[in-house]
Amino acid sequence: EAALDEAFQTLLSWADDVRDIGIRANADTPADAQTARNFAAEGIGLVRTEHMFFHGERVDLMREMIFAETPIALAAVLERLLPLQRADFSEIFQIMQDQPVCIRLFDAPLHEFLPAGKQGMRDLAEVLNVPLAQMTARVDDLSEYNPMLGMRGVRLGITVPEIYDMQARAIFEATVASSAKGIVLVPEIMIPLVSAKREVELVQSRLDAVAAAVRAESGVDFEYRLGVMVETPRAALRAEDIAEHAAFLSFGTNDLTQMTYGLSRDDAGKFMSDYVKLRVYPEDPFHTLDLDGVGELLQLGADRGRKGRPDVTLSICGEHGGDTAAIAFCRTHGFDYVSCSPFRVPVARLSAAQLALKDKLGT
Ligand code: PEP
Ligand code: MG
Repeated sequence: EAALDEAFQTLLSWADDVRDIGIRANADTPADAQTARNFAAEGIGLVRTEHMFFHGERVDLMREMIFAETPIALAAVLERLLPLQRADFSEIFQIMQDQPVCIRLFDAPLHEFLPAGKQGMRDLAEVLNVPLAQMTARVDDLSEYNPMLGMRGVRLGITVPEIYDMQARAIFEATVASSAKGIVLVPEIMIPLVSAKREVELVQSRLDAVAAAVRAESGVDFEYRLGVMVETPRAALRAEDIAEHAAFLSFGTNDLTQMTYGLSRDDAGKFMSDYVKLRVYPEDPFHTLDLDGVGELLQLGADRGRKGRPDVTLSICGEHGGDTAAIAFCRTHGFDYVSCSPFRVPVARLSAAQLALKDKLGT
């Protein structure tokens, strides 16, 4: 088995010599980051920070944040979240060492954190120590008809800017702490679900203020790179303006597919096999990158982004990131890297190499 493993590692290192596109991994936990590192991913392309709060007591903290009714209550919960996030990021930086890490600010559709049913409501009222009637009224207040199109991503970040301030502080403090251990990095911060340049300006000015404060407090100088997730059709259309404020654009093909088709990514499974059987869609666009429709938006967004900033870094980070077809598309259109789940990294490295060899040999 050891010999087989060695042969496989040799093959992968040959693949790395010939491939001409970067491969990063999506990772939300230190364990994922370690897997990414073991598979020689060239950095983390997407840390979904809301996923860091999907389990255990952390869900309650997230709910406390969402249900905070006064600025003081919000500040109190953010103060408890800050050291957790700082430790999360420090650990990931420690694992990734000098490799780039792209952290996405919270993109939590609120419904994922709302209690389910009457019992859920009662339990949460108890945990948060608020009267049931108040709890019910607050949940009603926050309920949305279309949560995936609602108070999500940057919209939450702009409406309640203290949340992104806390995350930015955690990222910068982790950067400072890492530099004391000899890990010099430029953290990448990515804004989710953008559809307008002004959203980027508003977030950027807050992040710059937090960075300045952390530099002044710590006496340590550091930089950060700001980027935008292009996952709404409008962001692709406005990529030229947006790129003026963004060092990198990362295309989120999950939401971009959902919004291009006007089709819920969580419900499509119910009829997709019939649709594919009837050849309405050639394939399930959530599994195979739809080169005709979504691909055209990717191409348009990439071209416009480069117009706004010729050296903008381009990547995709949706579920399609590790597919051969998506890698081929990204190579053709001059993308810098793809980011995929950690376990797909070795196959992505091989696919990228195969595509590069095919080009070289003209086959
Ligand atoms: C995407 O939309 O493609 C993406 C990567 O973000 P998420 O899946 O977290 O919405
Ligand atoms: Mg998304």
